Amino acid sequence: MHQSQLLIPTLREDPGEAEIVSHRLMLRAGMIRKVAAGIYTYLPLGLRVIRKVERIIREELDKAGAQEVLMPIASPAELWLETGRWDFYGKELFRFKDRHERDFCLGPTHEEVITDLVRREVRSYRQLPANFYQIQTKFRDEIRPRFGLMRGREFIMKDAYSFDADEAGAKESYRKMYEAYKAIFTRCGLTFRPVEADTGLIGGTSSHEFMVLADTGEEGIAVCDACDYAANVERAELVGTGVARAPVALANATGGGPPPVMQEHAHKPPADTLREKRRVPTPGKKTVEEVTAFLNVPATQLVKTLLYRADGKPVAVLVRGDHEINEVKLKKALGATDLVMADPALVAKLTGAPVGFAGPIGLSGATMLADWAVRPLTNIVVGGNAADTHWVDVTPGRDFTPDRYADIRNAIAGDACPRCAKPLRIVRGIEVGHVFMLGTKYSEKMKAHYLDKQGQECLIVMGCYGIGVGRTSAAAIEQNHDAKGIIWPAPIAPFHVHILPLAGKGKVLEAAIALETELTRAGIEVLVDDRDERPGVKFNDADLIGCPHQVVIGEKNLSQGLMELKERRTGTVTKLPHAEITTSLIRLLKLVSN
Ligand code: ATP
Ligand code: MG
Repeated sequence: MHQSQLLIPTLREDPGEAEIVSHRLMLRAGMIRKVAAGIYTYLPLGLRVIRKVERIIREELDKAGAQEVLMPIASPAELWLETGRWDFYGKELFRFKDRHERDFCLGPTHEEVITDLVRREVRSYRQLPANFYQIQTKFRDEIRPRFGLMRGREFIMKDAYSFDADEAGAKESYRKMYEAYKAIFTRCGLTFRPVEADTGLIGGTSSHEFMVLADTGEEGIAVCDACDYAANVERAELVGTGVARAPVALANATGGGPPPVMQEHAHKPPADTLREKRRVPTPGKKTVEEVTAFLNVPATQLVKTLLYRADGKPVAVLVRGDHEINEVKLKKALGATDLVMADPALVAKLTGAPVGFAGPIGLSGATMLADWAVRPLTNIVVGGNAADTHWVDVTPGRDFTPDRYADIRNAIAGDACPRCAKPLRIVRGIEVGHVFMLGTKYSEKMKAHYLDKQGQECLIVMGCYGIGVGRTSAAAIEQNHDAKGIIWPAPIAPFHVHILPLAGKGKVLEAAIALETELTRAGIEVLVDDRDERPGVKFNDADLIGCPHQVVIGEKNLSQGLMELKERRTGTVTKLPHAEITTSLIRLLKLVSN
C-alpha cells in the first residue's frame, strides 16, 4: 500500500492528553483519534493491528474447538434482571430506552445473552460441551477512562463462554482456553504471565488473569521466583506474618485455619522487652503519615483501625500502617455482601472521637477483625478512641484481643509466598485477558438445563473468557518501543516492511514499487512511503510507526544495484544486492504467518 493514499497523520510533538507510552505513540503514529473520553476512531494503521490480533485470536480459538457467533450489542433489561446484574452493575452499564420506553443496555459482557441462547437451543447432553465466542464492541461507562485503548468506554473484546455437562468437563474447557490464551499471547509476541485472580463483578469459583508485564501496568502482581506462584496483589493469599520464612514452617498451613506460625507467642519476643502501654497526645495527627512522623516510629509499628458497616453491622478492621485493606478479601472474611465505610456519626458513636483516632482498646459495639500481620506485633501505636490521642507500646493479645484474625490485605514485596514461603516480589502488569470458571452461577439463575443420559434435568456448568483486543495492542507497545517510536512484534505489525524510496518519483520510486510487487507476491505486507518528503521525515515516521523492517532505496545505492535493509529493533543496516532483499525478508519473517 502507498502511504500517500492512506490517512496516517503522524505527529511530531507529544500530545498533551497522553499519560503513558502506548497512548502517546498510538496518537503520534496516527493509529487512533479520540472522539470522546474513552471513545476512539481506529485509523487505517490502528485497525490493521487490531485485525491482526483478532486473526490470531480466531485461529487459536477455532483450533481449540470454540465456534464463532456474533451477539447483539443491545440487550433487553429482562435478561439482566434475571441474574440481578441490572442493579448490580451500577453506573458502569450504559442504559437506554427504546421508543416504547423499554429498558435496554449496551453489552459490557454477554453472559446473560449467551445463556439465554443456550437454554433455548441446548437440550441434551449430546450437545455438550460447547464453546461460543465473538469479537465485538463492548461498552462500559468506566469511572476513569484513560490511557487510550487501555481503558476505554467503548472497546473491542473477544468474549467466549463454555458450557459443559459437569464440573470435570468445565475444568477441561477452562484448561483448553487457558492453553489457547497462552498460544495467543505468545503469537502476539508478548511477554506475559498468567496469574491467579479475583473473580470480581462476574463472580465464579476460579480465575486467572493474563498479564503483560510492563512498568506502566495498572495491576500489581505478586510473583515468587522460587516456585512460579503468581497472583494479583489483591488476590495473593497471605497466611503469614508479612515476613517470609523457611518453607518448613508453612508445610502444615494449607489445611485451613490459622497457620502454625500464628500460634500464640510464636513470634513474640521475651516478656521483658514488652513495655507498658501509655496514652500520648497527638494533636491534629490523624493519618498514618502524620502520626508516625509525629511519634517517630515506622509505619510497620502502627496499626490502623478502620470502621465499616458490613451488611448494616459495625465492624472494626485492623491492619498494619504500611498495609492496604483489600475490600474483596474483607467481604469474604466477613461473609458480607454490602460493605461501606462508617460515616462520621457512627465513628463518633463507637469511639467517642472524631474520625482519625479509632483504636481497638476499649472499643465496643463493633466486631473486631484484624489482619494476620497484626498478631505478632509488639509495642505498637494505635488510635486512642479520644480526640487528639493515641496509645503507644500496645501489644495485641495483651492489651486487646480481636474477635478474629484473617487475611484481609493486599500483598506487598517481601510477604511470604503462600506456596513455598519464600519472599514475594511485586511487579506491574497489564491485564489483557481473563479466564473464569463460572460454575452454575448463571445457569442456575437463568434455568439453563440439559437432559443427561438418564433423562434427568441437570444444570449446565459454565466458564467465560475475555481478551481486550485494543488493550492487547496497546500492551504490545508498552513492551516494545524506544525513544523513536513503536517496535512492533512482526505478527501484529500493521505492515511487515516499510519501503522508503528517498525520492518521490523516477527510478527510485519505480524500484520501490517493483519491490513492493515482489514482496506482496511472497505474502509479505508492505507499506511504501511514496510521499514527496525529505529523507529525514521519512526516516522519523518509519521509526515512529515501527514496522519491523525497513528497506531504504537511495539513488546512489540503486545505481550500484544495492538497497539498505534496516531492522527497526536493533537499527542494524545491511546493504544488499537488490535481488537478495526479498529472500532475506522471507527468511527474517518466516515465523510471522505460522
Ligand atoms: P479491569 O479490571 O481492567 O477493569 P475487568 O476485570 O473489568 O478489567 P473483564 O471483564 O475480565 O475485565 O474483561 C475482559 C478483558 O477485556 C480484560 O482482560 C481487558 O483486557 C479488557 N477490558 C476490560 N475493560 C476494558 C476497558 N475499559 N477498555 C479496554 N479493554 C478492557
Ligand atoms: Mg473493569
